[in-house]
Amino acid sequence: MAILGIDLGTTNSLVGTVDAGFPILLANAEGQRSIPSAIAFPSDGEPIVGRAALRQRALAPERVITSVKRLMGKRLAEVDPATVAYPLTSAHDDSVRIVIDDRAWSPEELSALILRTLKETAENAMGSTLEQAVITVPAYFNDAQRQATKQAGMLAGLSVQRIVNEPTAAALAFGLHQSKSRAKIAVYDLGGGTFDISILEINDGLFHVLATNGDTHLGGDDIDRALAEHLWASHAADRSELSQQQPDIQIKLYEAAEQAKIALTETSTHTVRLPFLQEGVHLETLVDREVLATCAQPFLERTRPLCLRALHDAGLSLDDLDEVLLVGGSTRMPAVRAFATELFEREVNTTQNPDETVAKGAVIQGGILSGSLQDMVLLDITPLSLGIESFGGLMNVIIPRNTTIPTKAGEMFTNAVADQSSMLVRVLQGEREMARDNWELGQISVPFEAGPKGSARIGVQFKIDENGILEVLARDTKTNQDTVLEIQHAAVDVADQRVEAMIAESVDHAFDDMSERQFTEAKLKSDELLPAVDQALALVGDHLTSEDRQAIEAAAEEVKGALQSGELARLKKANAALDEATQELAALLMQQALEQA
Ligand code: AMP
Repeated sequence: MAILGIDLGTTNSLVGTVDAGFPILLANAEGQRSIPSAIAFPSDGEPIVGRAALRQRALAPERVITSVKRLMGKRLAEVDPATVAYPLTSAHDDSVRIVIDDRAWSPEELSALILRTLKETAENAMGSTLEQAVITVPAYFNDAQRQATKQAGMLAGLSVQRIVNEPTAAALAFGLHQSKSRAKIAVYDLGGGTFDISILEINDGLFHVLATNGDTHLGGDDIDRALAEHLWASHAADRSELSQQQPDIQIKLYEAAEQAKIALTETSTHTVRLPFLQEGVHLETLVDREVLATCAQPFLERTRPLCLRALHDAGLSLDDLDEVLLVGGSTRMPAVRAFATELFEREVNTTQNPDETVAKGAVIQGGILSGSLQDMVLLDITPLSLGIESFGGLMNVIIPRNTTIPTKAGEMFTNAVADQSSMLVRVLQGEREMARDNWELGQISVPFEAGPKGSARIGVQFKIDENGILEVLARDTKTNQDTVLEIQHAAVDVADQRVEAMIAESVDHAFDDMSERQFTEAKLKSDELLPAVDQALALVGDHLTSEDRQAIEAAAEEVKGALQSGELARLKKANAALDEATQELAALLMQQALEQA
């Protein structure tokens, strides 16, 4: 079942899925992949979502809801009414509601209208019903905001499989999960209405947000407004304020300013023409990149302290960063790229389409979850378990099959026999319980200081890097001496048929294997018990009653007989009986040890 990846943005929203192994974003009937996150409520008829909704804004601004993401999971008291153009109220639990006519809508319900539109877009494009989704949220979203996002998904008929942090999604889209096992990255995300800076650490495939900062009222819209003021100032002879003008004039100017800003990403000059802006008055002004950069500069400067604070909170300096990713539509602007380059003192990464990056990352995450990004997932997991042979010829799994790589795991081992001075570590791959039924990838002899049984402490660590190279490190923790064995492509270099055959065999032999493992484990216990009982009898046996002594000897004989017979149930019972019979002996041994101490 395909899983949708959704970027539910403050200004724009996108949806995509994995199709034929490729993450793709889906376009609506008008051919648009990005739709404005706007909902219009016409005085008659159903709500309208997207570009058509924005077009209604010039007619009835109070009936067009934008930036509803800012209200998600918020209480009325947390919202500055000056920042929204529509009337608000609160529900009984103080959570914010948006009033349209006589109905109070929750932000979740409004977001659900956007999500439903995206779901329909995807269903039309793919020709099937799609009910599962991954949705992205800003890294700083708290639990209430994340829950509200999930709730919005449910209201739209979507089962939300995962909520993903936007910077993490961006890093996924940039492919950073594949190329680097360890990296520190900054994601500079300047959208239409919000700015976020996130500092992430990727460590062996795990994404960790170290710090975030931002401004929920800073973005491309501010630049549009500043440019609109400039256009108005150059036009209005009486220098009256643009904000004092009719809403329709303001909106026309904002729209013209945004168009000019976008045009100036491609060209160095642009002519703004607004015939009949006012009665009998036409506006025609030439703007260039310098003018736009001057308008943008104060807003870009506001991002500087936020970035530096995030870096500081992450405990990093500029030099520690491996990569700076630019995300969000506004980072297309040459002025923004230049600013980020100067701020981070490095070449910034602009290899991804900035307004599609987050959505693409969500799609990739969905593809990984649904298993439809098979190639990627196959490369990213160990197809078979990896382990070493332990006492009695058993397979001791260290990294189970299907573990996502890169990965690392380890265990501590000791010597089975006294005076042993080295241990043979046989590296095995496979699903069978007994070492001999699995494949041997290599072996290393680990030297250590000879001593009594159980005195050595050998840590064995398996590490598979992102290329599937397995490195086995054995460390004598007493001397810190390491022995290393490197095995190329252990994780991925197994033909599919062989993996399938191994798994099929392990299923076929599951019962035999299991009873053999259990017998071996019981035998290991007997091997430990019998010599220990002999030793204890020699030390403190004289203090036992002859009845107790006979009982112990009989129990020990039964263990030996059970070992001979190869019967698991009999051996388990005999071990338990010997344990029981030696209670008194163990107490005597303990008492003697205490007296000696
Ligand atoms: P987002 O919130 O990430 O969708 O970004 C939306 C913002 O990006 C809006 O302010 C747009 O005006 C701006 N934007 C989109 N395309 C461009 C472009 N080509 N050049 C400059 N700004 C753009």
